[in-house]
Amino acid sequence: MSSMTIAPSRRRRNQPCEAACREIHRLLARLPTYQSPNQVPFADGLYFFYEEGERSGHGPNGRVVRVGNHPRALGGLVQRLRNHYGGLKTGQKNSSIFRIYLGGALLRRSAPHIPCLGSKPGQGHWERQHAKTCVRCRPTEQEISILLRSQFSFRCVAITDRAARNRLEARLTATLAQCGTCSPSHKWLGQFAYSEDVKRSGMWNSDDIDGPLINRQDLQLFAQLVRHSRIPASIRSATRPLVIVACGKAKIWDKNKLAGPTCAEDAYVGAHFLVNRDYARRFGARWVILSAKYGYIDPHFMIPEPYDVTFKDPQTRPSLRKLRQQVRSMGLARFQTVIGLGGKEYREAIRETFDGSSSALCFPTQGLPIGRAMQRLKRTISHGSIMAGATQ
Ligand SMILES: [Zn+2]
Ligand SMILES: [Zn+2]
Repeated sequence: MSSMTIAPSRRRRNQPCEAACREIHRLLARLPTYQSPNQVPFADGLYFFYEEGERSGHGPNGRVVRVGNHPRALGGLVQRLRNHYGGLKTGQKNSSIFRIYLGGALLRRSAPHIPCLGSKPGQGHWERQHAKTCVRCRPTEQEISILLRSQFSFRCVAITDRAARNRLEARLTATLAQCGTCSPSHKWLGQFAYSEDVKRSGMWNSDDIDGPLINRQDLQLFAQLVRHSRIPASIRSATRPLVIVACGKAKIWDKNKLAGPTCAEDAYVGAHFLVNRDYARRFGARWVILSAKYGYIDPHFMIPEPYDVTFKDPQTRPSLRKLRQQVRSMGLARFQTVIGLGGKEYREAIRETFDGSSSALCFPTQGLPIGRAMQRLKRTISHGSIMAGATQ
């Protein structure tokens, strides 16, 4: 008979796990922290919560207390975070397991005998996922919303591919949860959570905590994703525009058949696209590509394989409905100014999709022959001032 399985203990030190946990915290520390889901500049990704008072050897300025994802919905990162945050006066525990854990812990800490918690952890209506709140526990919803806004912050790592995102979420969670160095403080609210897994892991996570650790390749991928997720504070200001760049016909696979899946910003290789991209990187608070196949995509969107679709063909181009949905889910209409770079079909698509938003649209190359248009953009880039190109 083999020896008994021993549940991983936070006290056991495991060298690869310790090294990976340190690296994860170090990489994340390069990213901006957010206090509100509205600040997140991309549509798909993982999120990492920090909590006031929770620090550790690997996270001297804050250890990660929850890793999360939007496992199913495409473009669902911001909505997922909103489900956690709720409204300031309201919120719905049943839309977020994180809220159930937080509220249960708040109730147990302040009123352990309240009937809403039931006779045993997880038995009361507060902690049963589909049960309704009552007049006694309803104020807890607001308490959670305030707690999240005052005691928590988070960082995000952009990753579009769902399978890779789910895999990374599981392995990051396991590694952080099993690290022997990153233990919760003795005052940590999670000690009052009903889930034994929360208490044992020291994180507001219960899935994946005993799963396989992150490996070297996953960690390399994660480092790359963190690099792509960095958006310097200087270009995050709301007054700088969103730049939309039309996709191009020439693609990397025309040059190299074996290129494999490629980030959108590197997939188009035509001269016009490259000039537009320079302009977008230089002047955009954020930039996206308008693809004839995928609609609006972030520069790090992974294009799996070559395609040949044109905006001129109504059979294959993305529908107006899809484009409008992307504008909403990606938060593109939050920008006061939207600059569009591309031909007539693209301009029309941009006009139609932003119709009804309060963003001011601007097409600096409209009406110019393509050669003049490129000259104008290059001049704007070398001047370093957007005004030269943005005004007609
Ligand atoms: Zn109740
Ligand atoms: Zn650690």
